Amino acid sequence: MNEIILAKYGEIALKGLNKNTFEERLVGNVKRRLAPLGRFKVKHAQSTLYVIPGENFDVDMAAEKLKTVFGIAKICRAKGFEKNWDIIRDQGVSYVSEQLENAKTFKVEAKRADKKFFMASPEICREMGAAVLERFPHLSVDVKDPDVTVTVEIREENAFVHALKMDGAGGIPVGSSGEAMLLLSGGIDSPVAGYMMAKRGVKISAVHFESPPYTSERARLKVEKLASIMTDYCGDINFYCVPFTQIQEKIRANCAEEYFTVIMRRIMMEVAQRLCEKNSIQALVTGESIGQVASQTMAAMVCTDAVCRMPVFRPVVGMDKKEIVAVSNKIGTFETSIQPYEDCCTVFTPKHPKTRPTLENVRREQNSFDFEPLINEAVENTSLKVIKIS
Ligand code: ATP
Ligand code: MG
Repeated sequence: MNEIILAKYGEIALKGLNKNTFEERLVGNVKRRLAPLGRFKVKHAQSTLYVIPGENFDVDMAAEKLKTVFGIAKICRAKGFEKNWDIIRDQGVSYVSEQLENAKTFKVEAKRADKKFFMASPEICREMGAAVLERFPHLSVDVKDPDVTVTVEIREENAFVHALKMDGAGGIPVGSSGEAMLLLSGGIDSPVAGYMMAKRGVKISAVHFESPPYTSERARLKVEKLASIMTDYCGDINFYCVPFTQIQEKIRANCAEEYFTVIMRRIMMEVAQRLCEKNSIQALVTGESIGQVASQTMAAMVCTDAVCRMPVFRPVVGMDKKEIVAVSNKIGTFETSIQPYEDCCTVFTPKHPKTRPTLENVRREQNSFDFEPLINEAVENTSLKVIKIS
């Protein structure tokens, strides 16, 4: 048997009656994610997903890609054997020899899912440990904190041996928890917010507001690039782009400057939720963090949320910038986020935004112009592009 990949479930192993649905979702997500790498099969048993390579399948790349699939806690490269102990022991030790050569200490772990197998777990550990020590006399056993753990799994059809365990992305499979619309700017925070929702199983669509000619084509391409990087974790993303120029110009011409940002944010939310209603999307997501900038005070958020008819999730609300940057680096969006292109928010930034706007004043300012026809027009003229996993 060739080398295969065992992907162990995280939380979904616990989900009781819904487990099948989660499992099917995970299998679908894994198949889509690995499809570009060649032919392979996926099956599942006992809270483990098996990725079985076909011809010319790139196992290294597959293991790498699986690290971004939510719902997987651990990824093991393993070799499968027929259930003949001499073969398991001798060929198993050869298979993990590279890891053992470079280690000082090891232990053996046995998992015996097939309770009919003639050896019990302690016996498997003892015999395998003895075989390892015979081949690698420089090693010593350390059951508490070994450099390498050699695992022998006796399952129904085959036995598996592995010593390479990598962390998966954790979370639950994308698509298990409904769909939300992420307000995606070109900044650092909103891609991280999208990642965090996807981690909890939420499918992500994204909406971006652009104001040409104040914002350039390249600014939008940057945001599309961010969405494309996010597909590693989120899967395909429906990317909605809203023409926002006229609305912003009318805000500037009609409302008091100190309220520009909060009114703009309220209208963004309104447009976003109309797009949600049209597309059966249940909630909004933003990258706001309380107090990060003058427009992100709690008072401003109260005024923004007053227009919302659906939940608004702000998964980075309690994080410091440093923590957000760390996640951004981990998911690979940081370098793109810091490219200096203009955002529609920054084009008409007031010199002194109201940090404690009241709903009454905001409404009064916003009512100085009838935005409704322009909001309709913006929704009508919104474009959709599907950003596919690469
Ligand atoms: P980010 O790093 O996500 O851009 P930020 O700290 O720059 O956030 P703001 O520019 O005040 O903060 O934006 C706050 C949130 O509003 C963003 O996280 C995003 O969810 C949303 N937002 C801002 N500008 C846009 C835009 N042009 N299109 C879509 N959403 C936007
Ligand atoms: Mg921003």
